[in-house]
Formats: sequence, C-alpha cells, structure tokens
Amino acid sequence: MSIRALVWNENRHEQTNKLVASLYPQGIHGAIASAIGEDADIITETATLDEPEHGLTEERLAATDVLVWWGHTAHGEVSDEVVARVQRRVWEGMGLIVLHSGHFSKIFKALMGTPCALSWREAGEVERIWVINRNHPIAAGLPPYFEVREEEMYGEPFSVPEPMETVFISWFEGGEVFRSGLTYQRGAGRIFYFRPGHEAYPTFHDETVRLVIRNAVRWAYNSAPAWKAITAAPNVPADKAPVPLTVKGARLHEDGEEGFR
Ligand code: ZN
Repeated sequence: MSIRALVWNENRHEQTNKLVASLYPQGIHGAIASAIGEDADIITETATLDEPEHGLTEERLAATDVLVWWGHTAHGEVSDEVVARVQRRVWEGMGLIVLHSGHFSKIFKALMGTPCALSWREAGEVERIWVINRNHPIAAGLPPYFEVREEEMYGEPFSVPEPMETVFISWFEGGEVFRSGLTYQRGAGRIFYFRPGHEAYPTFHDETVRLVIRNAVRWAYNSAPAWKAITAAPNVPADKAPVPLTVKGARLHEDGEEGFR
C-alpha cells in the first residue's frame, strides 16, 4: 500500500522574485515533491494557495496520509476554515511535516498553541545540523552531522511546546543554536517540524535535506483508518455502561442530551 503525500506551498516568492524562481523553476512545492517522489512507494501530489480552497478540499485531505507545508509571506491568506479542516485531519491521524518559515503558519500555531517565535538573520550562514537522536527513523541513513552551506539563521528561544522528541540541533556560523527537528503528536496525528528551507537558497536540492523529508513522511504515516470520532463527546446512559449501573444522586442532564462545548 502506497503512502499518499501532498506537498502544500503558498507559491508566492516564485511568482514575484527572480532569484527564487531561478532556484525553484517548478516551485518550492515541485522541488519538495520530487524529493519525496524518489521513493517509488510514496505517491506525491502538490497543492498551492491560489487553488480553490487552497487545493485542500475535504476530499483531497481525506485522500492524504501526510501533508507537507511550506509557507512564508502569505500565512494570513490561508482561510481559517481550511486551517480548521487540516487540524481536524491531523487529529484524525494525518501526518503533518512543517518546514522552515511554516513555524508561523496558522496550522502550526493552532496545533502548538504557543507563539512559535524565534530569532532570525538572512546572511547566508553555514548551518551545521547535529543528529542528536541517532536511531530515530527520521535520522535513518544520516551521518552524525551534516551541513547546509547557505541558510538563514533561526535562533533560540523557539517558543514551541516541549517536543515529544528532538531529532536535530542546528549550529550557525554566527554562533546561535536552534532545535531544528522536533516531533509532536496531536490527537492521532504525528507532526514533524524541520527547520531548513529558506527560499533564497537551494536547500531543497540538497540530497541530505531531501532524505530527511522522505524519512519524515514515512515516520508521520499512520496506516490506521481515520479516527473520525475523535471530536465526539457522547453522553453514555447508565444502561449502556460497560458494567450495569443504577443511577444515583441528582442529575443536570437528561439521557441522550448533548453536552456543552
Ligand atoms: Zn526563510
């Protein structure tokens, strides 16, 4: 059974900036999709902001196992309705890979519940990415550390919740460090944040970065059926309790009544 990956990109810098367009003639989404598509058992499609419903319809998301997200200049243009739809799919078990400036995307902030802020500098620095969780599936096939020759700096403190696992820590030429590979689970869905990927550099053509993204898609994939009832809050009557029960005491709610939300 194939993994169905969907790469989402706002696709704006590619339209307005010649440098970005020359680095990514197929769009950043095209480069990321080609990286994931190197594994024949992953079916990879793309979606962009300007498509109807940002290319993220109910049907499309229902047919997606892992969503990969790149956004930067147009986070605010992503509709709240679509964000809520993606969030629900993550809760149901869809994997989500958030790349680079996606740290400020509505979907990442909604799932984290914190500001997701950091310090930054655009100075073409070397980023040395240390693999500190060496047996983690996302680190499969990686050396003890690897370098991206030119990257934007992101520095700590990164105001995200304490992660489930920290896979990578980055060091930058200017001296800052950053937790650059973090895992989370929200509902049934696995989430991976991966730091590199500034639009002014050829990062998504880097073989090691591409391997990490492929590994992350495999790690985030959940073969279980979607947990559709994850938002349900049923009022279970006493006669349907696992152990037969006599109702005692005062009651505010009637049998079968919906609870408050
Ligand atoms: Zn950037």
